[in-house]
Amino acid sequence: MLLLNPGPVTLTERVRRSLLQPDLCHRESEFFDLQDEARSRLLAAYTLDPAEWAAALITGSGTAAVESMVAALVPENGRLLIVENGVYGERIAHICAQYRIAHERVVGDWMHAPDLGAIAARLDAAAATGEARFTHLAVVHHETTTGRLNDLHGLSELCRERGIGLLVDGVSSFGAEALDFADNTLVAVAATANKCLHGVPGAAFVIVRRNALAQAASRTYYLDLGRLVRLQDQRNTPFTPSVHAYYALVEALREFDEQGGQAARYRHYAALAEQVRTGLAALGIEPAVPAAQSSVVLRAYRLPPDLSYAALHDALKAEGFVIYAGQGDLSKTLFRISTMGNLSSADIDRLLKGFAALLK
Ligand SMILES: *Cc1c(COP(=O)(O)O)cnc(C)c1O
Repeated sequence: MLLLNPGPVTLTERVRRSLLQPDLCHRESEFFDLQDEARSRLLAAYTLDPAEWAAALITGSGTAAVESMVAALVPENGRLLIVENGVYGERIAHICAQYRIAHERVVGDWMHAPDLGAIAARLDAAAATGEARFTHLAVVHHETTTGRLNDLHGLSELCRERGIGLLVDGVSSFGAEALDFADNTLVAVAATANKCLHGVPGAAFVIVRRNALAQAASRTYYLDLGRLVRLQDQRNTPFTPSVHAYYALVEALREFDEQGGQAARYRHYAALAEQVRTGLAALGIEPAVPAAQSSVVLRAYRLPPDLSYAALHDALKAEGFVIYAGQGDLSKTLFRISTMGNLSSADIDRLLKGFAALLK
């Protein structure tokens, strides 16, 4: 079965076999070697300086990393403005509500790009009326709900002019899409092993600017980002990590480097995503978001009028492909195809043949 859903992904045999390495106690030096290698390779994926940035490993799914980032990096007296144009932006607001973090949302149409004018107006209104000012802005880089790649440059300009820090959910973009870590408004990016890095579920991480940790809040026990970085820097860990997921992450990162890193992964995904787009267009299936505004990781398409998602899903599953529905209200009109994981152009050819047979 090939997984065309947005994580977990189809593994390479090399990563799958890495799960079968020796049993390992997480208090032994062999485990800390593994942890150190994962942390340094995560920084190397975007050529980050370990003196300036830290990778905090977390046992959990991508949401654990987003939650750890938000719960720590909006300081006790801070206030967060959330850019929301999909399910994952909405989830950041739910996390803030859970921790009672002062926040507001700028909710846009989920099919559209964030409205920079509305965001600037909200930031400035808070400053002008004497409300507590916003200290941070949070955004989802690749909003997996629709496949839209939110443009971080415009948002970081708004942040720079106002001295605001940017927190990014990069769960479905880290490893494949470009991220500008030289941008000094960027405070942290949360991500996971089992999307563009091709590891297994169970290991997530936050890439955080070290100088932001001095002011970090400690609102959560298990996901406390400040403590995770402090202990991991000392070759330590507060709890039992998912040792096997770390084996797979390290193997996946070695493979990622050998294959040419983020730029090569971007090119590979882009070629597959365009193959899907042009192949579906030939069958009369249109993208829901223009290709130029979409990621290379996943794209959303309009369901043909007389085909239900269930019928499409089941027919393709019988051919060995798992695709993904739209989320929420979008489930009736959209379906999604991810090109993450160990996939080739021959696999996409077979997928397109499956579509063609069904639509005939
Ligand atoms: C997958 C994803 C998440 C996290 O989902 P989990 O199920 O917790 O791994 C968060 N944000 C985005 C943008 C995602 O695509």
